[in-house]
Amino acid sequence: MENNTESKEIDLSIVVPLYNEEESLPELAEQINKAIGSLYSYEVIFVDDGSSDTSLEVIKKLGAEDPVIRGISFSHNFGKSVALQAGFEKASGKYVVTMDADLQDDPNEVPEMVQMLKDGLDMVSGWKKERFDPISKTVPSKFFNFVTRKAARIELHDFNCGLKAYKREVVENIYLYGELHRYIPMLAKKEGFSRIGEKVVKHHPRKYGKTKFGLSRFINGFLDLITILFIQRYFQKPMHFFGTFGMLLLLAGSGINMYMAVLRLVYNQGIGDRPLLFLGILLMVFGVQLLSTGLIGELININHVRKQKPKIREII
Ligand code: UDP
Ligand code: MG
Repeated sequence: MENNTESKEIDLSIVVPLYNEEESLPELAEQINKAIGSLYSYEVIFVDDGSSDTSLEVIKKLGAEDPVIRGISFSHNFGKSVALQAGFEKASGKYVVTMDADLQDDPNEVPEMVQMLKDGLDMVSGWKKERFDPISKTVPSKFFNFVTRKAARIELHDFNCGLKAYKREVVENIYLYGELHRYIPMLAKKEGFSRIGEKVVKHHPRKYGKTKFGLSRFINGFLDLITILFIQRYFQKPMHFFGTFGMLLLLAGSGINMYMAVLRLVYNQGIGDRPLLFLGILLMVFGVQLLSTGLIGELININHVRKQKPKIREII
């Protein structure tokens, strides 16, 4: 099924999100060229996430010297996920590789990762087995990876490694925002790309500048994990989540208050000061609220779900 557009397709798009990394960029461009320049046709897409240093000028200069280097620059800082998403949308390679700009990731790992894709994987995630980061980062990261691994049921050791390789189809089918870049394997799996592998990669200490993520990374990280688990299970059917609880509470509340009604009407007892009466009322009101929340969720969802088409594997 060769046609003209397909034969012009390049092998690799390397997407590099960056925020104030002016010192690293020339060295990174050189490292990439050395590692893969003779192996593939490729492009490097530098996504300048609103840097306030001279990163943009450096990218322009590198682009003028070497046409494989391209760039996008944001008006201000949107975060790594948004930067990656913009890079993905611009990528035209058959395979897409992401790496950090700070020289911590090693481009020499790319050929083997690409080979794993050629051998059938949908995505390959790097695993910084030996890591050159402060302990304040490595220990929470181990915990984070453990929880994510169990929750997502994906056997990866290092979800948040910046160095990853994908078939382009994968990045075309996921949408990154907020801080979802930490959960790309989960998003990919949700879209049906379940052949996910990992490769132990060399990791280097940060050479220039400093890390762009503070302690807030862990709090935000876990809030995002809750969001993504919720979206994964109940995205199509919010009513199933809210409705189940709502129905249970409403039933319990109605039961209690029916009992109260029998006491009042049949046995002629005073019920005005019974705490159980108030519990019954509370449960009923709360139950109805949850049911309506589920209904509103469904209304918000309906237009979106209508647009969703199943991804066809094959038509026979
Ligand atoms: N980065 C970005 N936007 C941001 C924060 C970071 O594009 O708002 C880039 C950063 O320049 C680097 C990569 O994301 O290329 C990883 O960031 P960093 O090295 O600070 O993270 P760490 O290695 O400490 O996890
Ligand atoms: Mg780094």
